Amino acid sequence: MNNSTLSVSVSEETAWRAAWTKFPFLFFCWLSLLIVAGIEGVIYYLIHPRLFELNPRVDLLVGISFLLFFGILFSGLFLITVTSLVGIDLLYPHNKRSVTVKLLFPVAISLAQLFKIDRNKLRASFVKVNNALTKAQSGRIKGDKILVLLPHCLQIDICNRKITNDVNNCVRCGRCPVGELVTLGEQHGLKIEVVNGGTLARRKVAALHPDGIIAVACERDLTLGIQDVHPIPVYGVINDRPHGPCVNTCVDMSLVLDAIRFFRKNQ
Ligand code: SF4
Repeated sequence: MNNSTLSVSVSEETAWRAAWTKFPFLFFCWLSLLIVAGIEGVIYYLIHPRLFELNPRVDLLVGISFLLFFGILFSGLFLITVTSLVGIDLLYPHNKRSVTVKLLFPVAISLAQLFKIDRNKLRASFVKVNNALTKAQSGRIKGDKILVLLPHCLQIDICNRKITNDVNNCVRCGRCPVGELVTLGEQHGLKIEVVNGGTLARRKVAALHPDGIIAVACERDLTLGIQDVHPIPVYGVINDRPHGPCVNTCVDMSLVLDAIRFFRKNQ
C-alpha cells in the first residue's frame, strides 16, 4: 500500500470513527421524535371524534397544530443530523437547534436509561455533535473574544491559591494542569476563568460576552452549559477523572489545543 492510499484510508477511518461517536445522541433523538409523534397520534386519535362533533374547524386546527409541531422538531433534528455529519452549515438562518435539543434531549436521556445505556456516553455524544455544529458554523464567529472556562476541580486539592477570583493567582508550579492552561491562554490571547459551578460560569459569560467559548468540564456540566449559553458557540472538552468525580481532574491538552486552533484559525 503506498503512502497516499494509506493516508486516505486513515482519514476515512477517522471520519467514520468521528461519525460513530455522534451516533448515540442522534439515534436516541430520532427515537424520541418517533415516540413524540406516536404520543401526538394517540392523543389526536382520542380527541378527534369529540372535536369534530364540537366543530370541524377546531378539529382541523388542532390536527394542523400537531402536524406543525412535529414538522418543526423533524426539520430541526434533520438539519442538526446533516450539519453534524457533513459539516456544512445548514442551520442558518433557522438556528433552531436549541428548541429541538431542549425538547428531545431529556426524552433521549430517559430512553437511553431504559436501554441501559450510560447517561455519560449519551452526553459525550451530545458534546461531539455540538462540537461538529460549532465547527460547521465557524463562518458566524465574527469576533476574537474567546473565553476558556475551566472547572475548579482541575486545581490540585493541596493548592490553596485562590484561582476562582483571579486565575493569575496561579504561580504555575506544575503540580496541576491549571498553570499550563494559563500559559496557553496568554500565548493565544484567550481569557481564562476557573469556575466552581454553573452559576459562576453563567456570571463570567454574562460579564465578558464572548464570541466563542472553550469549556472544559464533565459530561453533565458540559451538556447543561452548552444549552445554557446558546447561541454562543461552545467547543466542549471532556475532562479526565482518574481520582473520581470533582477531585484532582485533568484534561488532554491536545484536545484543548484542537479547540484553540479552531477558534484562532477562524479569525
Ligand atoms: S499550577 Fe500550581 S499554583 Fe497553579 S493551581 Fe495548580 S497547583 Fe496551584
